[in-house]
Amino acid sequence: MEHEHPDFLWRTPDPKRAYDAVIVGGGGHGLATAYYLATRHGMTDVAVLERGWIGGGNMGRNTTIIRSNYLWDESAAIYEHSLKLWEGLSQELGYDLLFSQRGVLNLAHNLHDVRESVRRVEANRLNGIDAYWLDAAGVKEVCPIVDICPDVRYPVLGATYQPRGGIAKHDHVAWGYARGADALGVDILQDCAVTGIDVEAGRVTGVQTSRGPIRANRVALAAAGHSSVLAAMAGLRLPVQSHPLQALVSELLEEVLPCVVMSNAVHVYVSQAHKGELVMGAGIDAYNGYAQRGAVHVIEAQMAAALELFPLFAQAHVLRTWGGIVDTTPDASPIVGPTPVEGLFLNCGWGTGGFKGTPGSGWTYAHTIAHGEPHPLNAPFALERFESGALIDEHGAAAVAH
Ligand SMILES: Cc1cc2nc3c(=O)[nH]c(=O)nc-3n(C[C@H](O)[C@H](O)[C@H](O)COP(=O)(O)OP(=O)(O)OC[C@H]3O[C@@H](n4cnc5c(N)ncnc54)[C@H](O)[C@@H]3O)c2cc1C
Repeated sequence: MEHEHPDFLWRTPDPKRAYDAVIVGGGGHGLATAYYLATRHGMTDVAVLERGWIGGGNMGRNTTIIRSNYLWDESAAIYEHSLKLWEGLSQELGYDLLFSQRGVLNLAHNLHDVRESVRRVEANRLNGIDAYWLDAAGVKEVCPIVDICPDVRYPVLGATYQPRGGIAKHDHVAWGYARGADALGVDILQDCAVTGIDVEAGRVTGVQTSRGPIRANRVALAAAGHSSVLAAMAGLRLPVQSHPLQALVSELLEEVLPCVVMSNAVHVYVSQAHKGELVMGAGIDAYNGYAQRGAVHVIEAQMAAALELFPLFAQAHVLRTWGGIVDTTPDASPIVGPTPVEGLFLNCGWGTGGFKGTPGSGWTYAHTIAHGEPHPLNAPFALERFESGALIDEHGAAAVAH
């Protein structure tokens, strides 16, 4: 679906002194939440407070891979719901998101990978997700430039394959949601940093910002890498660690890579953008950090592995590298739901894989904020699971180990 780029995206209003709800963070998750609050729950007296610019966080820095092939039923349900929303999102937003279902391969390099992958394919199929196990020859058929020689450091023994997976253009997604929310009256306030959260008698009453105080009985955090910093303003300590995660792009190439290829073991996940550049993600930096950049040795290791997997990439040059700040949890699954502070909601912990979850996250978070209780799809992703022990361990399906 093609659309002209619109002349007008959103207004630049001054902050009002009070809203029914404020959302902290103008990344994909905050904007999608605002959009679904307005369109599905009739809540339009809402502001999105962004300390920088819309989509300047992880939303504009990720490698845009979309898939739903997670192991556990709870994850499969929320990520598959998200994927179904992706499938109609350009039409819904009236904005071309360059959503391309070109298929995603997750490579297996050793016997353990093979067992984990086959188990996941079987679990996915039980959940109605399109998932296949391919042997090395099958991988080569889907992606001819992958080297499947057995005598390399990380031989390709096979891969999981999700044909409905793919990519989308991340900034278009942020702008599309922002435009849709703004059109219904949501105020999108850029350059508006939240510096404090007001809590009285266990209930949230508003926020302090760089543009003055704002009252609201519902405050919804969607601040990705800064979630623990913001939650601390309300006296909450989260089981979340923030790490730099890097990616890079090459110069523009003719079409060489027909699908998305991911390797958890070597931390290479790569696709070819519509314009032609290779877009490739790396592993996280081991230390905690809040800088939007990472260490060079991580990129070096990623490139060494990428060249082995795709000898053709030796012809390409790296043009740019950058980093985002990812919020990781002990079970590699997100936290979406209410908090012990009444009226304060939490959406974080999407870590290295939350772009694909943007529509599903916004959908369920909006429901949670509007009703004061979780949607069935995000109920299992409650903060309490770290006390109850009902963890949803997705380390095997998350593409980047942490
Ligand atoms: C290099 C990289 C590659 C990735 N690749 C993929 C991928 O291929 N597929 C995938 O599914 N996911 C991927 N991810 C993860 C994905 O980008 C994130 O999980 C997701 O974008 C997080 O949600 P968000 O978009 O709302 O975050 P963000 O865009 O980071 O939004 C949070 C916003 O909160 C704002 N903020 C912070 N503090 C404050 C404050 N005090 N006041 C006001 N605003 C504040 C920030 O400025 C920011 O704009 C990747 C991430 C990185 C960094």
